[in-house]
Amino acid sequence: MKEFDVFIAGGGIAGSVAAKFAAKGGLKTLFVERYKTPRMKSCSGIQFPYLEKTIGEKIPSEKLCTNELSKVSIVRPDGKITKAPFKMLNFTRDVFDDWLNQVAIKNGAEFRDECTLIEWEIKTKNIIVTISDKDKNLEQIEVKYLIDATGLMPTVRMKMRSEDFEKKSTGATINYNFDGEGDLEPNRLYQYWNLEYNNMMFAWIYKKDDLWVIGTGYDKNISKI
Ligand SMILES: Cc1cc2nc3c(=O)[nH]c(=O)nc-3n(C[C@H](O)[C@H](O)[C@H](O)COP(=O)(O)OP(=O)(O)OC[C@H]3O[C@@H](n4cnc5c(N)ncnc54)[C@H](O)[C@@H]3O)c2cc1C
Repeated sequence: MKEFDVFIAGGGIAGSVAAKFAAKGGLKTLFVERYKTPRMKSCSGIQFPYLEKTIGEKIPSEKLCTNELSKVSIVRPDGKITKAPFKMLNFTRDVFDDWLNQVAIKNGAEFRDECTLIEWEIKTKNIIVTISDKDKNLEQIEVKYLIDATGLMPTVRMKMRSEDFEKKSTGATINYNFDGEGDLEPNRLYQYWNLEYNNMMFAWIYKKDDLWVIGTGYDKNISKI
């Protein structure tokens, strides 16, 4: 049975960054992603520039979208518009997450895609993790630490702390991509706030490479949308 200090389930941003720092810190690290990479991810891929500080990496320009988002317009709940020069990072998650996978690998982590965390058993001194490859071959691995970075429906936490997930979801978020002309600025992020629908942003429009993205989210009162 192979042994690792750290096993991380999930090859998204959280998994890769955890893998990078674990491996950099000298821990023998394996992180796995259930899909083939680069994998698509429904996400706007907009972040504050301080993400670079958090992940400890300068993001190469070719991993960002061709259009930089350097200005923001906020349509506030009272209808007033605030405009500001404000740089946001703009990337597609397949390209960005794949790059972050590589960053973790370069720092010494082992990575497997099309590999799924199936089960785990906590023993006195270690954890026995069962993973499956794309052909459904099972393998058991002995690890000291198991990190759950499996996203919104977290595999490990949902099982170990099911009470945290008893409440039904009260919201959803969706993005549409459009090819077309408009008189909006390609380097401006347009945000719309409407507290009737969402305590956070209600809608957003911006350009991602050659496509316009129109997104919306709600956290209550879906019948009003
Ligand atoms: C429409 C939309 C727009 C968004 N826009 C933004 C935005 O602009 N900026 C922003 O910061 N956030 C945005 N988010 C939120 C953002 O997508 C998430 O916060 C982020 O992806 C969380 O990263 P993560 O690494 O925790 O999880 P994920 O990116 O979800 O990665 C988890 C990975 O774990 C894998 N996995 C799951 N189960 C297993 C298993 N058992 N074994 C192995 N692998 C497994 C999954 O396949 C997945 O690749 C948006 C979300 C949506 C839905």
